[in-house]
Amino acid sequence: MLDLNKDIQYVKGIGPKRAEKLNKLNIFTLKDLLYYFPRQFEDRNNLKKIIQLENEEKATIKVVIVGVSTSSPRKGLSITKVDVRDETGYAKLVFFNQQYVKNAFKPGDTILVFGKVKKEFKKIEISSCEVEYLTNSPKNTCKIMPIYPLTYGVSNKDIIGIIKNVLSDESLVIKEYMPKHIIDKYKLCSIDYAIRNLHNPISKESLKIALYRIVFEEFLILQLGLFLFKNGVEESDGIKFEENKKLDDVLTSLPFKLTKAQNRALNEIIEDMQCNKAMNRLVQGDVGSGKTVVALLSLAHCVFNGFQGALMAPTEILAEQHYISLTETLKPFGINIELLVGSLTKKQKESVLEKTKNKEVDILIGTHALIEDKVEFNNLGLVITDEQHRFGVRQRSKLSEKGENPDILVMTATPIPRTLALILYGDLDISIIDELPPGRQPIETIAIDKSKRDRAYNSLVRKEVEKGRQVYIVCPLVEESEAIEAKAAVDLVEELKLEYFSDLKVGLLHGKMKPSEKDLIMKSFKNREIDILVSTTVIEVGVNVPNATLMIIENAERFGLAQLHQLRGRVGRGSHKSYCILIYASKSEVCKQRMSIMEETNDGFKISEKDLEIRGPGEFFGTRQHGLPELKVANIFKHMKILKLAQQEARYIVSEDRKLQNYENQLIKKEIMNKFEHSIKEISLN
Ligand code: ADP
Ligand code: MG
Repeated sequence: MLDLNKDIQYVKGIGPKRAEKLNKLNIFTLKDLLYYFPRQFEDRNNLKKIIQLENEEKATIKVVIVGVSTSSPRKGLSITKVDVRDETGYAKLVFFNQQYVKNAFKPGDTILVFGKVKKEFKKIEISSCEVEYLTNSPKNTCKIMPIYPLTYGVSNKDIIGIIKNVLSDESLVIKEYMPKHIIDKYKLCSIDYAIRNLHNPISKESLKIALYRIVFEEFLILQLGLFLFKNGVEESDGIKFEENKKLDDVLTSLPFKLTKAQNRALNEIIEDMQCNKAMNRLVQGDVGSGKTVVALLSLAHCVFNGFQGALMAPTEILAEQHYISLTETLKPFGINIELLVGSLTKKQKESVLEKTKNKEVDILIGTHALIEDKVEFNNLGLVITDEQHRFGVRQRSKLSEKGENPDILVMTATPIPRTLALILYGDLDISIIDELPPGRQPIETIAIDKSKRDRAYNSLVRKEVEKGRQVYIVCPLVEESEAIEAKAAVDLVEELKLEYFSDLKVGLLHGKMKPSEKDLIMKSFKNREIDILVSTTVIEVGVNVPNATLMIIENAERFGLAQLHQLRGRVGRGSHKSYCILIYASKSEVCKQRMSIMEETNDGFKISEKDLEIRGPGEFFGTRQHGLPELKVANIFKHMKILKLAQQEARYIVSEDRKLQNYENQLIKKEIMNKFEHSIKEISLN
């Protein structure tokens, strides 16, 4: 029996050279190879007559060769044309710079041709041809062709050949790991059938059956893995908070009334807190929807019950902003709040740690610093993570481990479509704040081509500054490194000062600056000592300067739409009308499509849904972002129904066998462990 874990280098017919190429496709073992699924399928099965061919279509025809001719219209270009016919008409096969094909075609022979049709009036030419002689098992025509994702140096035919070779090995046994009752319940085909038919579909129907099995399996494994590792499903006993009248006093002390959506979210939270199960809740709310005050009230509720609370934010600027606004509101109620961030002196830190341990601190606000080992609480009752997408999946559990089953609340302004939230946060209850506080004016967004950049700077920016408003300018995103990005920001400031705004105050904010420097800049911007703030994406989350009314984003095409939406949320925070100008430097259709989505809607949920549709959900499942296994075939949009089934089944399975210890679940558990290897490593590292 072939060992699926065998290094492909030693698989018959592969060898070290090919193995090296396959390694580039992340194929290291025989199993990797078998699970290297086609990204699409080309139906070469529709055998047509010449008369039926339509312009631009790809089709297969069975024809007789009439004659061959070669011409050379200019140096370096040769065109070979092969005249062919069937009983309905004539066509020409066209080959560029492939003189050798000339001798391969003998008039009178019958061949099968698959290619792309060009039809002008009655003249038919077929290019990009695959040709083969009639046989009982055609290789390249008359079948459903798998098309694999490729890398340089490996062709589709290579992969097809290699896989065919492996599949024809009689000692290959692909053992089933899906529990039998699930196979029966969902009428799944065996894994052996699925793999064989994905690589070499016998028919459209068999391909469909194979795809269904793999899609279901991918979703099921993902869900089971999430349940297994995020320890959410276990309904652990938690703290039972009591109702407290003081919370109403805090509510009345606020300068505004909560929106309906805020009220709803708050009620859901309070209800969770007051029951004896530990809360696991996600609050999703668009930028500016007022999540902070919901966090504040939940924390107050926790403190009034005699427990400590913690609030973790991704940046110092944000942590400090929270610190200021929470202190302002809650100090009058005798609540002690401290800030723990990296830039504190050692002495300050020690004092905060000491007070936290002794319960002189009621609410501790901070950055990642909160999850360091030395941070100890006396009785942590509620843990809140703000902008949780900025943290790894594991970090939030790290913070909650500092208490005994504290209630957990995570907040995010990355609006994730429900479908995706369902997967990523399958173990969380979700509250949605889908309403902005009253009086907000929608941000007007305009996308312009780079050639109009001058005008944007000379007229729009000036106009806003003359009105007494302030402006953000966001530099192009540089993925490679924060250092290069910082350099680009410095350059942009120089350019702006020199070319456009020598008379205005221009400030700079980037990720390489010391926290204290950043702080200083943000404070001067808040105090209107700076007119124009040039910034990298560090400005993305949560910063609140209501007098800023214009944001210009350079090379907007480089950003994800959700990120553009987050950035744009820095303006439109006051009573003045706000604008966002997206400068793009790409002429691609996709870019235009994406820019117009930004112009058309201010709804973060819609935006992320569209973005996912255009870019595909792949990026969300990159291991770097979420530590989740890749979905190779399953697509959360296309296969929504199967996703729901798989999720239901996963829930059911873990409700019966939480740790998948039953005999029938052993094999699939092994698959899950393999697929989640990356995340497991992450857990043990943290
Ligand atoms: P986000 O959800 O993006 O974190 P914030 O909590 O920072 O939003 O709130 C944005 C702004 O809206 C803040 O200035 C806050 O004081 C204000 N705000 C929040 N809730 C209300 C409300 N119900 N009515 C009026 N203003 C509100
Ligand atoms: Mg916020």
